[in-house]
Amino acid sequence: MFALALVSKGVYAFYHDMKSATLFLAGSLLIPCHSALAWSGPGHELIAAEAFRELSPGLKTKVTDILMAHPDYARWTNSFQPGGLDLPTFIFMRSATWPDEIRRTTGPNSIYDHPNWHYVDWALRPPNFPLGTEPSPTNNVIYGIEQLEKTLSDSNAVPELKAASLSWLIHLVGDVHQPLHCSSLFNDTYPEGDRGGNEFYVKPADRVVRLHSIWDGLLGTRIHPQTQFNDAVRIDAQYSRSSLPELTKDTTPKSWSLESRQLAIDKGYLGGKLNGSTSSETAPPLPEGYTTTAKEVAEKQAALAGYRLADEIRQYVK
Ligand SMILES: [Zn+2]
Repeated sequence: MFALALVSKGVYAFYHDMKSATLFLAGSLLIPCHSALAWSGPGHELIAAEAFRELSPGLKTKVTDILMAHPDYARWTNSFQPGGLDLPTFIFMRSATWPDEIRRTTGPNSIYDHPNWHYVDWALRPPNFPLGTEPSPTNNVIYGIEQLEKTLSDSNAVPELKAASLSWLIHLVGDVHQPLHCSSLFNDTYPEGDRGGNEFYVKPADRVVRLHSIWDGLLGTRIHPQTQFNDAVRIDAQYSRSSLPELTKDTTPKSWSLESRQLAIDKGYLGGKLNGSTSSETAPPLPEGYTTTAKEVAEKQAALAGYRLADEIRQYVK
């Protein structure tokens, strides 16, 4: 099921709600570069599950009430299957993927679309990787999270906007922890940048994939909320709050994005030594052990994202 790693969230919505593999496969061929990809749907749901488990009963009720005003709430409840997770947990997790589902779509929900909020393309320029200036400082994931913090703490915000903003916050705290959402490689091969690894082809085993897609799929590629919830429990047990000094060291969306940028340098591009190709035909093999290490990074990032999302909700959801 590796192909699921390539799924766009719009297609994921069809797949999740309609169980239509045909639509999924048709849609996966239409995905544009860079902008359509993020943690896979399962990754976003996993991070949401971690955060929801952290909330007090009172805050769980509060966020559940807020999400009832979401424009897609009825569709989500219709897709709920009793017998596993409870409805509030399911809805909170389900809302995590919505910003990708409405991305570059038309229709009534397009007023809530912010296609550039999903990432920040910090430049990676080997061999020294100077930081440079923040790309698009009024239209990137850092800016997006800051706008959502304002809306969610505004007690006068209209209910639908507040619900959409909560869904967005759940999503973006996930995105900013995906290393390849916070980086773009610049070198002689990629003078305009590799767009977060979307133009960097590699070959794990006998498949050819974009580097970005490998990272998107590290937290799971099959939609099954109970599985994502179980993974959240497992990852939280592995990474307690006290085991993560990053939680007290890096406390702003910008610092989270810079953590991700450094991971992209160290583990994503192996300090600039990872070989890739602009063409799928000439994609080089990935080094042995690459994806094993990357998965460990992704799970730790998921733990950080879950704790930080819970903290954001405690601080900003009024
Ligand atoms: Zn996204």
